[in-house]
Amino acid sequence: MNLSQVTYIWIDGSSPTQTLRSKTKIVPLFEKAVTLKDFPQWNFDGSSTYQAAGHDSDLTLQPVCFVQDPILGQPNYLALCEVLNPDGTPHISNKRAHLVKVMEHIAKSQDPWIGFEQEYTLFNGQQPLGWPDRGYPAPQGPFYCGVGADEVFGRHLVEQHAQACMDANLMLYGINAEVMPGQWEFQIGYRGIETESADPITVCDHLWIARWLLYRLGEEYGISAKLHPKPVKGDWNGAGKHTNFSTKAMRDPKNGIDAINKAIKALEARHKEHIAVYGSDLELRLTGKHETASIHQFIAGVGNRGASVRIPRPVASKGYGYLEDRRPGANANPYEVAAILVETICGDAEK
Ligand code: ADP
Ligand code: MN
Ligand code: MN
Ligand code: MN
Repeated sequence: MNLSQVTYIWIDGSSPTQTLRSKTKIVPLFEKAVTLKDFPQWNFDGSSTYQAAGHDSDLTLQPVCFVQDPILGQPNYLALCEVLNPDGTPHISNKRAHLVKVMEHIAKSQDPWIGFEQEYTLFNGQQPLGWPDRGYPAPQGPFYCGVGADEVFGRHLVEQHAQACMDANLMLYGINAEVMPGQWEFQIGYRGIETESADPITVCDHLWIARWLLYRLGEEYGISAKLHPKPVKGDWNGAGKHTNFSTKAMRDPKNGIDAINKAIKALEARHKEHIAVYGSDLELRLTGKHETASIHQFIAGVGNRGASVRIPRPVASKGYGYLEDRRPGANANPYEVAAILVETICGDAEK
């Protein structure tokens, strides 16, 4: 038997953007293959996380996804949790429970896959990392996928984060430096590995754990990662969470493109409902400039980075694959984004 440090991670009730909380429990674990059942329920003080009133504050943590802790090493774990009310029902802040329900109601044969591009901005105090104390860096241009001490800032943290995601067996797809200096992106989700399931619940769980690891590793450097969709006003790119989505029909080499076009029609019809759950302050980012479409319009196009939804050029050429919803902000809750995509696209396909 090992005594393991298990970090219980959950999503709080902060508004308008939910944030992460965690605390550690010592759990006896046996060396046989550890399963979810080995992690007991726990509780916390919901009155300190905007999730309960002080007179009735105990809420339940139900582990739903665990990985090896890449920072503390073996035999320690990270356990992502759903927040439950004392009667066992999902707490109102628990958006994962809704996604689980949505997934139960669609035909298994639709088999949706998802991939998120999580952009974020590193901050040193009040300024983005690498920015001068006063004023601004050189205009955007050389920073995207740049290399060199005057082009990119924070690579040590970014690389350590990527390795931590790998060590935790998260579905990390890649990383890149972004257009605005101090801004970066990592992708989590489908990566073409046959033994992996890129189902929306697993991918969303992985994204939340990857976010936690980024914040946690930032502590080592005094650097904070922020998900605001427009961290600096003016001629600077915002931070998004492009969401790539496919169903079995969309991936069908025979006529996948028809299913993709049908999905885009369904997305267009529910533009406003989608925008409503794509993150706060989204109007600051979706301006029609800086590789976005206006929040008031729905535009779809092949290879068009000024569109709401883009069909990647290679997908159009092959005639099947996936679509990219470019609207979600970096701060959107992936459970909410995934749930409405499944509702709109898979729901429409079942009509
Ligand atoms: P971009 O060119 O928009 O910057 P990236 O290279 O950053 O794209 O990311 C590609 C994304 O597409 C990844 O998140 C990956 O998981 C996702 N993806 C690739 N194929 C599929 C697919 N068939 N279904 C869903 N997502 C996919
Ligand atoms: Mn990308
Ligand atoms: Mn990007
Ligand atoms: Mn993209």
